[in-house]
Amino acid sequence: MEHSKTPDNLSRRELIRVAGVTVLGLGAVAPAVAESPDSPRRRVLRIAHLTDIHMTPDRKAAEGMAACLRHIQSQTDKPDLILTGGDHIMDSIGADAARTKQQWDLYQAVLKAECSLPVEACIGNHDCWGLNRKSSGTTGSEPLYGKKWAVDALGIEREYRSFDRAGWHFIMLDSTFPKDDGYIARLDDQQFDWLAEDLRRADPAMPVLILSHIPILSVSVFFDGENEKTGDWVIPGSWVHIDSRRIKDLLIKHPNVKVCLSGHVHLVDRVEYLGVSYACNGAVCGAWWNGAYHECEPGYALVNLYSDGSFDNRYVRFGWKPEA
Ligand SMILES: [Zn+2]
Repeated sequence: MEHSKTPDNLSRRELIRVAGVTVLGLGAVAPAVAESPDSPRRRVLRIAHLTDIHMTPDRKAAEGMAACLRHIQSQTDKPDLILTGGDHIMDSIGADAARTKQQWDLYQAVLKAECSLPVEACIGNHDCWGLNRKSSGTTGSEPLYGKKWAVDALGIEREYRSFDRAGWHFIMLDSTFPKDDGYIARLDDQQFDWLAEDLRRADPAMPVLILSHIPILSVSVFFDGENEKTGDWVIPGSWVHIDSRRIKDLLIKHPNVKVCLSGHVHLVDRVEYLGVSYACNGAVCGAWWNGAYHECEPGYALVNLYSDGSFDNRYVRFGWKPEA
C-alpha cells in the first residue's frame, strides 16, 4: 500500500485513520459489529462449517468424516445447520469417471449414515470433474463434465445461489473458474453480475454471510510458498480469488455483508477488512487425512450468527489421528 503523503504532512486524524487501516488490514481480530447497548444480541443460528473433507477410499477418510459428523452432533450446544465449503472429494479434476463415482458414492454414504442435520453446500475445485482432460480421460462433452457431477451429488439446484434463513441472507459462490487443464479462483462475469444483483435486491437490514471455497481474502496463504528461496511473495491465482479487489469493491457498497467463510488453504485465519470479516476455516481432512497441515489439525468451525448482524467463529478439532 502506498500513501501519497509523508507522515509529516498527515494530520493527527489522518494518522489515526491510516494506522487503523494498517491494524485492521491483516490478521487483526475485532468484533464484526460494534455492539450498541440498546440492541440486545440474540443468537439466531448455530452453524458447523466443514470445508475440505476430501473423501477418498484411502487413509480411513470415511471413518474420519464420520468421526467429524459425530463430534458435531454430540455437542451439547448442537448446531442447527451444516455448511460444506467445497472439496468434498479428494479429486475429480484429474480422475476418471469410475474413480470420481467411487469418491462421491462414499461421501454420500457417510453423509446419509451419519448426518441428521440439514446441509447446504458450495462447490470446490476438486469437485469439478475432468478439467484435466488428459488425466481424467474426459472430452468435455460428457453430461456430468465439470460442475454438473458435483451439482447432482450435492443436491444443489445450481453452481451458485442464495437463500434466507433465521433472518440472515446466505450467498453460496462458485470460486472455480476453469482455465487450461486446471482452474483459477474467480467469478465469471455472469456470476459477478448475479452477485451484484442479489446484493442489490437483498433487504439492507438483513445481514449477509457469503460462503466460497477459495478465500476472497486470506493471510495464511503467505505461509504456503517458496518466498524465502525466491525472495518474492508469490500468491497464485488459484489460492485466493484473483478478482478479490472487484469483489471487495462490491461488498463495501453493502454494509450488511458481515462475514465471508472459506476453506481451500487447509489453514485457519481471519482477516478484518473494511467492515467484513474473512474467516478461512481449516480442513476436515487436515493434511489430506495424513494428520495436521502445518499447525492446522483436522477440524471444523462452529459459527454463531446473531440478530444484530454480529457473529463468532471458533475452530474445533475433533481429535482425528491419521492411519499409522
Ligand atoms: Zn480447494
